[in-house]
Amino acid sequence: MRLFTTIAALRCYLNSEKSAASNLQIGLVPTMGALHSGHLSLIQRARQENAIVVVSIFVNPLQFGPKEDFQDYPRNLEQDRLLCEQAGVDVIFVPSELEMFGKSGIDAGNSEIPVLKLIDPSFLTQVVPPVAMTSVLCGKSRPGHFQGVAAIVTKLLSLVQPTRAYFGQKDAQQVAIIRQLVADFNLPVQIVACPIAREASGLAMSSRNQYLTQEQKQQASVLYRALQQGLKTFSSGDRTAKEILAVVKSEVAQESAIQLEYAELVDPNSLIPLEVVKTAGLLAVAAKIGSTRLIDNMMIRNRLPIVAIDGPAGSGKSTVTRKVAQVLGLSYLDTGAMYRAVTWLAMTTNTPISDEFAIAELVNSSYLEYNLDPASGLTLKINGEDVTEAIRSLEVTARVSEIAAVPAVREFLVEQQRRCGKIGGIVAEGRDIGTNVFPDAELKIFLTASVKERSRRRLLELKDADRANISLEQLERDIALRDEKDSTREVSPLRKAADAVEIETDGLTIAEVIDRIVGLYKQRIVNSY
Ligand code: C5P
Repeated sequence: MRLFTTIAALRCYLNSEKSAASNLQIGLVPTMGALHSGHLSLIQRARQENAIVVVSIFVNPLQFGPKEDFQDYPRNLEQDRLLCEQAGVDVIFVPSELEMFGKSGIDAGNSEIPVLKLIDPSFLTQVVPPVAMTSVLCGKSRPGHFQGVAAIVTKLLSLVQPTRAYFGQKDAQQVAIIRQLVADFNLPVQIVACPIAREASGLAMSSRNQYLTQEQKQQASVLYRALQQGLKTFSSGDRTAKEILAVVKSEVAQESAIQLEYAELVDPNSLIPLEVVKTAGLLAVAAKIGSTRLIDNMMIRNRLPIVAIDGPAGSGKSTVTRKVAQVLGLSYLDTGAMYRAVTWLAMTTNTPISDEFAIAELVNSSYLEYNLDPASGLTLKINGEDVTEAIRSLEVTARVSEIAAVPAVREFLVEQQRRCGKIGGIVAEGRDIGTNVFPDAELKIFLTASVKERSRRRLLELKDADRANISLEQLERDIALRDEKDSTREVSPLRKAADAVEIETDGLTIAEVIDRIVGLYKQRIVNSY
């Protein structure tokens, strides 16, 4: 592991790594140090998803108010360094305030301006997030805080230029504001929000918990219980903010050591207060115990379950998924059909598939219409043309994996797929549904079968459709090639999600596979609703 304190050394390292590997995936975990298990869960996730992991440790003066705990904020570099080393971090970046803020002023010929002045916002370029997002929740009592966060995050993203940046969902307002910033400035980074890590008592982990005595920690766990009560109220059918917040407030009031600052229910993206939760809400609280300010939150969703079915070509996914959707009364999303439609469009418009830029242009100006009802016969239109049949041709099948490996195509289609799943109630099939499109799907299935068996099935299908002008051997070669392309591409390769149930279908009939999945659904989902 390397530790850098200067921007120049960090850049030098990153440039050298980038020139040694094409398309290097870099994960950035911005922190203020005093690392705990919450930070470690972000680091672990970054480690799994990237070739290089950079952890920045910088207690950012811009995000502390004049009466806040900037001076006293816990700092423990030696321990942080050890934890990062154990977690397999590649680089810790620990700049000083002078390094972060001083240089630009000095370089600009302002050397007579003292460093302290340079971290005064009036001497710095500002990044101002939407006032509607910074004047609510914590923004009410921490004026300037999110502006300070936005400035430092913009700076770190610009320095590291990571593929992904990891933030804890505990700071839900921060996550929403950073997502907005990234979207508004089109910053080329994916923001990953990781679940809140909690102590056994339910208390959300925080560096500031170090200020608490054992007794205070126990008392502070009421915040989590209050959020859970709020969730319970919501799950039992009370969807109004008034009812839910009343329950949360009365639970917090049970603990006299806690002074509630706010309990609010807002839209998780725009942070606009909600009166009723239609699809999703962010239930957030802030409170003081002694002089320590704590925050916590919970997402509440009014979404029906999602079943994700992934697997290689010819594993029986389409037939199984459509049937499962029918039996369970859910919608059916065939994501492979979307990649096929784009392939069809590229072929009919003579857009060379190898011309990634032209493909990006083509897909982003196309319009897909999709019918999700498994009973009424599936139809798919692209730019108004019905391509339901045409996308099944051998020509389209032969080129689809190439199109599916183009990052711009995946970005465009995954966005549409997520929109289809916004209110849930769908069974979706593909290659990256459980790992990427719907990582929070309630049930994930990974269907497999040997190449021989899959080719045999595909040939039968083609014979049924009177399109069997291909030999079994050729089909085996085609399927093996498609498997290889789908599993080795850089973006969202075909992979079993860690929490997916694998079903090997070689010796099973379609009916048996469907029964297994429907059984799992009933066991897991119906029981929990
Ligand atoms: O499932 P189907 O054979 O229709 O998928 C066609 C192709 O689309 C796959 O071989 C794969 O390259 C791509 N695909 C994908 N991600 C998905 C679904 C399909 O890459 N979620």
